[in-house]
Amino acid sequence: IDPADHVRKAIRSVPNWPKPGITFRDITPVLQDPRSFRVLIDLFVYRYMRQRLDLVAGVDARGFILGSVLAYELNLGFVPVRKKGKLPFDTVAEEYSLEYGNATVEMHTDSVRPGQRVLLIDDLIATGGTMVAASKLLQRLGANVVEAAAIIDLPYLGGSTALKETGLDIYTVCS
Ligand code: IMP
Repeated sequence: IDPADHVRKAIRSVPNWPKPGITFRDITPVLQDPRSFRVLIDLFVYRYMRQRLDLVAGVDARGFILGSVLAYELNLGFVPVRKKGKLPFDTVAEEYSLEYGNATVEMHTDSVRPGQRVLLIDDLIATGGTMVAASKLLQRLGANVVEAAAIIDLPYLGGSTALKETGLDIYTVCS
């Protein structure tokens, strides 16, 4: 079985959550099963093991799970891209719009040094707004965002296409 198919089959689709008409793609079964968790992480490990990287930046909160395991395996440092108001030290913030209202992501000002090569990771790309905001933050800190990775792309929302148009390289395990 193709490893990406293995992961795809372990993702749970929850209809009408968090709102009627929305189908939520739930990765918790992928993490819960040791084999699919390993297959998933190994897909990322094999993709990035020969690339020159300095850091993995994971997006709050599922990007923390993926990003920290991946950073550990690749012998890289991990830095969090957090939701507003969680980081204790000096921060930079980037606001972005959601379907209803706005959201803000923050990073510590000293989490990346200029010129560092950073892999950005989250569980899913929908409209791409979160990844755009996170990569803007990283770029403001002087990072070179080598790629933005996720398990799932929802192509009908156009996020991955919009991200590519900003010049960002994208990798997703499945669509
Ligand atoms: P975007 O900013 O519209 O691309 O939305 C992506 C963000 O929302 C990511 O941080 C995801 O974790 C979260 N998200 C949106 N839809 C889903 C879903 O169906 N499953 C899991 N996470 C989702």
